Amino acid sequence: MNGHFAPVGNGPAAKQYEHGIQVVDEEKEFNKNLNDYMIETHVAEAGFNYHLISVFGSQSTGKSTLLNHLFGTEFSVMAETERRQTTKGIWMSKNKRESAGAINGSTATTKMAENILVMDVEGTDGRERGEDQDFERKSALFALATSEVLIVNIWEHQVGLYQGANMGLLKTVFEVNLQLFLKDKQQSQTRSLLFFVIRDHIGTTPLSNLRNTLLQDLNKIWSSISKPQGLENSRIDDYFDFAFAALPHKILQPDQFLTEVAKLGSRFTAGHRSTKDQEFVGGVFLPEYHRRIPADGLSMYTEGVWDQIVNNKDLDLPTQQELLAQFRCDEISREVLVAFDSAITPLEDQQAEMLRLGKPFVLPGLGKTGRDARESCIKAFEVQASRYHKGVYTVKRGELETKMDSRLKVLYQGQLLAAHKTGVAAFSDAVTSAVKAGQKAGGSYEFAEIVEKQKRKTLEVFKKEAQSLAISNVPWSNFKSQYHLFERELDEVSARLRKEEMRRLAIRVERWVKSRLGDSIGLEFNKLGSGRGGSGAPASGEKPPTETDLWDRIWDIFTSVVKEAEDRFSERAKSFDASEGEVEVGLWRLRRKSWVALREKIDEEVMESNILMKLRENFEDKFRYDDEGVPRIWRPTDDIEGAYTKARESTLGLIPLLSRFRLAESYGPPDLIGFVGPQPAGAEPEDEEDLLPIGGVDEEEGKSLEEEMTVLSESKRQDLVVRFKKMADGVYVEAKRSAIGGMTQ
Ligand code: GDP
Ligand code: MG
Repeated sequence: MNGHFAPVGNGPAAKQYEHGIQVVDEEKEFNKNLNDYMIETHVAEAGFNYHLISVFGSQSTGKSTLLNHLFGTEFSVMAETERRQTTKGIWMSKNKRESAGAINGSTATTKMAENILVMDVEGTDGRERGEDQDFERKSALFALATSEVLIVNIWEHQVGLYQGANMGLLKTVFEVNLQLFLKDKQQSQTRSLLFFVIRDHIGTTPLSNLRNTLLQDLNKIWSSISKPQGLENSRIDDYFDFAFAALPHKILQPDQFLTEVAKLGSRFTAGHRSTKDQEFVGGVFLPEYHRRIPADGLSMYTEGVWDQIVNNKDLDLPTQQELLAQFRCDEISREVLVAFDSAITPLEDQQAEMLRLGKPFVLPGLGKTGRDARESCIKAFEVQASRYHKGVYTVKRGELETKMDSRLKVLYQGQLLAAHKTGVAAFSDAVTSAVKAGQKAGGSYEFAEIVEKQKRKTLEVFKKEAQSLAISNVPWSNFKSQYHLFERELDEVSARLRKEEMRRLAIRVERWVKSRLGDSIGLEFNKLGSGRGGSGAPASGEKPPTETDLWDRIWDIFTSVVKEAEDRFSERAKSFDASEGEVEVGLWRLRRKSWVALREKIDEEVMESNILMKLRENFEDKFRYDDEGVPRIWRPTDDIEGAYTKARESTLGLIPLLSRFRLAESYGPPDLIGFVGPQPAGAEPEDEEDLLPIGGVDEEEGKSLEEEMTVLSESKRQDLVVRFKKMADGVYVEAKRSAIGGMTQ
């Protein structure tokens, strides 16, 4: 045997498919294993790189024998001694030869086209049997719908027998072809090649004559068929191309037969139409014959076609192609999603677990993983599915993208949520610890700078993450709004941290005010003890302090201390970018707290034990020292009583003065309301929480300004007078006694 055999498959199934596969059996059942065969023979993976040809002709005209010689197939043939039908139904086998044309030791061979699938169709000669006719018609339709090349096997002596069985079959072929064409609104129906192989060619009539006879007969048949409306004027060569070959008698001229078969085999290669005269160039496989059904969908497609034919439905190939495309695209989609799934599911699980544990976690490298998984999934889909019906493919590709994107979207949003949460926490921690470090290092740190630096850093991290998740040309993967949301939250956190920083500053300033007031106010009260309006010489030029302007001095000290504190506060607060409103609230609180601190200090000073001592010192100063500050030695002649009365009344005069915070000039309370000022609009309830009510300032508290300015209540005052008098009396008695004692000495 000439030509080279290509092994078909090597699995255990190889043996099973030795004779090819019976695509349709005698019962008109379609073989469910066709796709297995396609896979076994590696045709399934060939995309469009395969060819499908069929053979037609009367029974026992050597069709199977021809195919076996041409393609190295092993279709069963009738033993030469008996004569009965062997091929049942429709068989298919892959071409087992790689090349053809090597004749009688010549090495000049032609490489045949790859992946030629050959269909051996049951022939018929029992044309009187209605059943056979039905099968013949159905198998012809099937072969026509699927095959690029239809080999019409015919004896030489049948040529010109217009009424012969072969011509009847051709009539059927032409009719069903027109039906197919009519259904095909999109004009996707391709042409086919009718390849006449004339057997037992004796050689006396040249092939060209036989060819002309056949063409005449074909045209006759064509004109005799009833054409559907709209196609009345169609011509046979609108749908078919024709090719012819003749073979010598296999038994009588075996060598010539083999030579010619080998030559014939070399025509099963790719070919094209010459642009000049439209003549064929090369082999019989013209691109326009190909049905464009991807190899991995061929079994499904042919099954669908057969199903329609068997059930006598109008064969609608475009619809079949769309259905096939839908089915296959879904199948391919499921297949390619497996890899996507295995890349993405663990990440989804991990994210869900972290969420459940309440630990926001940014999955490392998620953007790349997701993008790669998505891309390779689409690529894989594209490779296989793009061969199918374009419209369906586009839709299914969109569906696949949507499917993946809906999962990536959830995953990415979870990722950004985690990035958001961890980012906010990191920012807050970083600012807080930088402030702490600054405080430790002596408090010279710029809060605003720390915030700005950390914000920039944190935003950069988030931005990187968001950008890493972007997929080009996928609008939902632009996470700008999440970025802005994050930035806004950082600003809110900054504001909160700044507020805390303000509180800390306020506490520091309040402490400072308290300590300053403690010293200065204490000093003012101590001056009372001297009884001569203050101790020591007053600063030159200044009016010497008197007891009556005690409150004026206290108010002055108070307001200047607070003023200084306010300056410190607002200067520092502004340095960390506090808003004017925030500063205003802080100052308002500071003034209030300072007043309360002052009141506390005053209350401390006028506590009974303290004030009584001061009054006693005041009195004793006045009573025991003369106007020059020299201590008096009482003599009996001295007007002790007069001095006593004068000093006592003078000191007693202090009590009403002390009782009320009143300025000397206006003889009224200081303008505390004006000093504190109205509550700023921006002050929040929390600002007031730790603020004690101030009489007159906070009217609704029910305490008047008058009451606020009351240092000693009426009863305390009276009590103080009584105790002071008693004490003064004691001093007087002692003085008296010492005067008398001095005399008796
Ligand atoms: P099929 O039914 O058309 O597939 O025919 P087969 O291939 O089974 O062959 C039927 C018979 O024809 C067999 O006995 C073959 O030996 C014989 N045969 C095969 N090729 C030729 C040929 O070229 N000429 C003649 N006369 N007989 C042939
Ligand atoms: Mg046969």
